[in-house]
Amino acid sequence: MAGLRRARGTFALWALLTLASVFFFCEYFIYYCVMLQCSWPQIGRLDGTLEAPTLRAFFLADTHLLGALRGHWFDRLRREWQMERAFQTALWLLKPHIVFILGDIFDEGTWSSEKDWEDDVRRFSKMFRRTTDTELIVLPGNHDVGFQNEADWAKLWRFEKVFNVTSATVVTKGGVNFLLLNSMAVLGGSCSVCRSVEDELFLLSRDLNCSLQVGASQDRLCRDARKFPSSPPIILQHYPLYRASNAICSGLDVAPEEVRHQRFEEQYDTLSQEASEKLLWWFRPRLVLSGHIHRSCAVLHENKYPEVSVSSFNWRNGNRPSFLLGSFSPDRLALSTCFLPEETTVVVLYCGSGAAVALLALLRSYLLKGTSLVHRPPV
Ligand SMILES: [Zn+2]
Repeated sequence: MAGLRRARGTFALWALLTLASVFFFCEYFIYYCVMLQCSWPQIGRLDGTLEAPTLRAFFLADTHLLGALRGHWFDRLRREWQMERAFQTALWLLKPHIVFILGDIFDEGTWSSEKDWEDDVRRFSKMFRRTTDTELIVLPGNHDVGFQNEADWAKLWRFEKVFNVTSATVVTKGGVNFLLLNSMAVLGGSCSVCRSVEDELFLLSRDLNCSLQVGASQDRLCRDARKFPSSPPIILQHYPLYRASNAICSGLDVAPEEVRHQRFEEQYDTLSQEASEKLLWWFRPRLVLSGHIHRSCAVLHENKYPEVSVSSFNWRNGNRPSFLLGSFSPDRLALSTCFLPEETTVVVLYCGSGAAVALLALLRSYLLKGTSLVHRPPV
């Protein structure tokens, strides 16, 4: 009898250890296993040699932290844990100089009260914590401040104050110019904020174009221009530039075939065609990076301006989220995609290990019952 009890205890301990190991793997170790396959892209020169980048950056999009109004508490807890683990593991393994998040940081920024907003910001700061040698720059998305026709500008100023950004600004790092845009206030809108952003963009385009010219100080138009490193800008924004649908996208994680041909609505799914053309004409960017669509997409505008839409970083929006790694020098760049663990892998591991332990427990109790009947002494 004592032997039987000891055997039961050993089995229970084994089952507990097995399930604890699966839990540890799925919630912690899997992020290291998957992200060890990510590496910084190399910048190649035309002569075939490699160039050392002056800047290494992460680009994330659409984290959509749930607020107090939508979603189940467990959904929120799970997604935030996944994003926190993914981000902290990526920081530890890849050590970027700077991280950009391309909007829709929150899911309910447009509706949240002051108290809920403060709670959302506190959780965001904890999840995306980092050391002082990694900078974080955050752009607004429509879920943070509303679409242009419904935008609450008080919500925009609240966002700008917390994240220290404005609707149009140039940030220069390692000799690379990043033009940060608030898509909801960009060009073509009739709101007062849109008009002031358009004026600011016009001045920024003059400054950046003057910085590219040799002997610009002799040019009357460039006399009062601010000086930037002589490098065409990289535009960062939430909405993609205008495209009719995702049908023209290429890349590793494009939208599935059944939705790729759905037509986009201007100012809702993408910037308007007019605003997109104006941005390209004014800035002649060497790259445009955007979010909003939740799937990745690489397109080439006017046969010379590449744009990459970054996938959502939240498992709520897809089975296999990802983010972009960018290596930059003032005149060259290279991008690669870093994929995060697949949700289906985690579900299969949990269900498979749970079912295996339950089956073994049943089989074992059936065999032990048979043994105790065989050895029962005669009455
Ligand atoms: Zn969006």
